[in-house]
Amino acid sequence: MNYEKQCRICGKDIVVINSRYCLCGSDECKKKNNKRLHEEYYKRIKNDSYLYEEMRKRDLDNLRRSYKPVMCSLCGKQMVRDYNAPTHRDRMHTECIIKDTIETLNRGTRLTPTQRSRLCARGYDLGMVKEMIKTGEIY
Ligand SMILES: [Zn+2]
Ligand SMILES: [Zn+2]
Repeated sequence: MNYEKQCRICGKDIVVINSRYCLCGSDECKKKNNKRLHEEYYKRIKNDSYLYEEMRKRDLDNLRRSYKPVMCSLCGKQMVRDYNAPTHRDRMHTECIIKDTIETLNRGTRLTPTQRSRLCARGYDLGMVKEMIKTGEIY
């Protein structure tokens, strides 16, 4: 069965074998059509907070499923994942990193570059940790 239609992008007359087809088949029209569908999809999602929430939940579910339990490489205990937190990919507890830093400093040893960058990644620096040691305020 042939259907006479018009390409929905360039408007050219086309004959298609499936009534759902609506493109002339040129790469350019295919590309433009994909782009349009994509834009429409995201516009719809942006305007629809319910859909947006659903999508977010689905993403989080996928995230959860894709995660294996991760053990903190410092204390060996399992990391509790808060998927809404920006830290959900951490492989060490922040408090363990700080404890590790404090222990290193108390031994009178310098921090390795790895230890430094771990601290940095959590928004701490050496000065802050030294301050914690001084004030005894270790969280
Ligand atoms: Zn076309
Ligand atoms: Zn830990």
